Amino acid sequence: MDTMLLIGGTFEKGQGPAERVLNPKTGELIVEVPEAGAAQIDGAVEAAANAFGAWSRTTPSERSAMLLRLADLIEREAEGFADLEALNCGKPRHLVLADEIPAIVDCFRFFAGAARTMTAPAAGEYMAGYTSMIRRDPVGVIASIAPWNYPLMMAAWKLAPALAGSNTVVLKPSEQTPLTTLRLARLLADVFPEGVVNIVTGRGETVGSRLINDPHVNMISLTGDVGTGRKVLAAAQATLKRTHLELGGKAPVIVFDDADLDAVVSGLRTFGFYNAGQDCTAACRVYAAPKIYDNLVADLASAAASLRFNQRDDSQNEIGPLISARQRERVAGFVERAGTLPHISIAAGGKPGAGTGFFFQPTVVAGARQDDEIVRKEVFGPVVSVTRFSDVEQAVAWANDSDYGLASSVWTKDISRAMATAARLRYGCTWINCHFVLVNEMPHGGLKQSGYGKDLSLYALEDYTVARHIMINTQ
Ligand code: NAD
Repeated sequence: MDTMLLIGGTFEKGQGPAERVLNPKTGELIVEVPEAGAAQIDGAVEAAANAFGAWSRTTPSERSAMLLRLADLIEREAEGFADLEALNCGKPRHLVLADEIPAIVDCFRFFAGAARTMTAPAAGEYMAGYTSMIRRDPVGVIASIAPWNYPLMMAAWKLAPALAGSNTVVLKPSEQTPLTTLRLARLLADVFPEGVVNIVTGRGETVGSRLINDPHVNMISLTGDVGTGRKVLAAAQATLKRTHLELGGKAPVIVFDDADLDAVVSGLRTFGFYNAGQDCTAACRVYAAPKIYDNLVADLASAAASLRFNQRDDSQNEIGPLISARQRERVAGFVERAGTLPHISIAAGGKPGAGTGFFFQPTVVAGARQDDEIVRKEVFGPVVSVTRFSDVEQAVAWANDSDYGLASSVWTKDISRAMATAARLRYGCTWINCHFVLVNEMPHGGLKQSGYGKDLSLYALEDYTVARHIMINTQ
């Protein structure tokens, strides 16, 4: 198992304290990964800064070829990556293999193409006697900080646009889920010149904090908690670093009376509980119209109760455990507090799963009201709340009444109503009659406290590059 850091093309053992990496399905230790020491973090940034000059002068076609090669290598090792991700996160292995790895490979392939297609206004004489042109240049050294819910995918989302835009990177995976990123480091070292990508592991408050505060870092890219986003902004202010923040979410799901009930229930069964709800776009906050509400709660409760987890035969599992005992306690706390409210009924689940792993039963909280904690706070677990609305004005107002603004969905057979409602939602994405379907060509990112900046798509390439104006005096 790979536990070494990648610093300037060399694999090194971390000089900091050992981090215990646990198997969430059993709670047992998988391996100890020593975190980076202070000198190693500084060394990684220095290596990225030193590599920047030559790397920033590579041609798009050279970078594209390397990104394509990396994609091929990941694809070739798909089974091994699926094994490691399933082990470290507790995810059903067959889902990692079918859903995550192909999307990761495609992400590198998309940005390999995107690197060669950057556009700008036509060069020309916008003032007589002066010729203007636009360059798109890299931002510089990027500190990328990833979360634990999709470790390899988040690494891909951060590395691919950064490298396509000819930046150099120091990437820190979550201390809880470093294993696939450390394996990826081997492939990165084979493909990219020394220092272009550096991998350091460790906790946020030690390694992450030192990394984002380093004055030689030009941009910080974080996917994580809103509180961590604030720390990134504080770190950015000293040297005015660029920031790219993908933070939490609390996705509203508006279900009108005319929606296809079976499609809604099947969609919520999948997209409310996928990855045990540890997903910033999870369909977790349902607003149901008055006539469909009762049937929706009943059918969703049965559907949630039918989700398979913690089976000995992993190919039967549809969801895994939560990432840690702490996360399970957090989720249990939300459900317990909701359950004490007189208007709420726990229609399905509500309890931790059996065994030593960090499982929690798929849970449906019915009768929730707009001001309830379960409706307002991000639970990040397999918990879906259902709230009855009276009319479209109320549904839109409640959906928008959130600190978050990442993802949302609208379910109705009336496409005009769907489009009119979607236009009024203040979310980075609104799906119609579906939820949680991502493609590498389309942007993913939030509004409000869900952060700003886009992952995926040409918009991400824009975020990881700077438009520069070159003007020539031709008189
Ligand atoms: P987290 O913020 O605790 O950790 C994310 C990363 O930040 C980890 O690598 C951690 O070590 C690092 N970190 C923590 N404190 C830091 C500090 N002071 N300085 C530098 N780095 C620090 O979040 P998490 O618990 O790992 O992930 C769950 C959160 O991520 C949820 O809120 C979820 O909504 C969010 N998320 C958002 C998206 C999105 O696309 N918007 C995607 C996935 C997850």
